[in-house]
Amino acid sequence: MFNNGKMCVFIRKDAYEVACSIPHTSEEFRHLMRVYQGSWMDVDTEHLFRDQFNVKTRMNGWVRLPYIYIAMVRNDARIGKKLCLNCGKSSVYKDSMGRFHKTCPNCKIEQPNAFWIYQQDHSTNGVIC
Ligand SMILES: [Zn+2]
Repeated sequence: MFNNGKMCVFIRKDAYEVACSIPHTSEEFRHLMRVYQGSWMDVDTEHLFRDQFNVKTRMNGWVRLPYIYIAMVRNDARIGKKLCLNCGKSSVYKDSMGRFHKTCPNCKIEQPNAFWIYQQDHSTNGVIC
């Protein structure tokens, strides 16, 4: 499953319990966590975020999942990319010399401080909690 290079996340085994402990979590979302806890879900790598993931469900399409529900990340597509905090697009903003661009290729806004570069934690092999 992990050799096809697709980014996926492992939903923590107590995700339903966590969802129930957080106020204002919808019944629909809690049900989703009951169904998917302890399993892997595909991530939409077109839209990468710092603290949440777009994950694909069998029945509802894409759902935004906060970081707190994730136990592991495989084939992390965020590594080496920058996120533009203006438009929310993440890209490899590098030129041919390997330097990072200061301007977002999507919205063209120059915001040197509005980017982040996600680094893989090699000591845990992608396991983040
Ligand atoms: Zn942008």
